[in-house]
Amino acid sequence: MDKKLSAGDDVDSYCTRCRLDLGHIIIAMIGDKIVKVKCKTCGSTHTFRSTGVSRISSTVRRTGASERKATSMVATIEAVWQAGIAEARGPEVPYNMGIAFKVGDIIGHSVFGKGIVQRTEFRKCLVIFRDKERMLVSSNT
Ligand SMILES: [Zn+2]
Repeated sequence: MDKKLSAGDDVDSYCTRCRLDLGHIIIAMIGDKIVKVKCKTCGSTHTFRSTGVSRISSTVRRTGASERKATSMVATIEAVWQAGIAEARGPEVPYNMGIAFKVGDIIGHSVFGKGIVQRTEFRKCLVIFRDKERMLVSSNT
């Protein structure tokens, strides 16, 4: 049987500051559970994180975070689009490359759906649609 660990003993833990599995000293325990450890490398005191498991769970957390980030980016475009639709004045104009659009015009595109003109340039305009922004050909000068 392993020797029972207690405060003051050495233990391997994931250090939240060094971001590495390192030797730590146990500071506090609740029953058989290590709760607080002190890193022997940087001297910081933090919650005990067992080495192998913490690495897997932190990988999962990172993946989850990047997925959330991607989702919120899509939500942002949709939010801008929805706000634009709400603010836009005037009727929806069916998209036609022969029209000179104005910023704020609502365009009805046969493929992309409803869009709002964000910017106009020579012979094109930037239109935000529900999923993303697209450059459309127009008669702008
Ligand atoms: Zn450390």
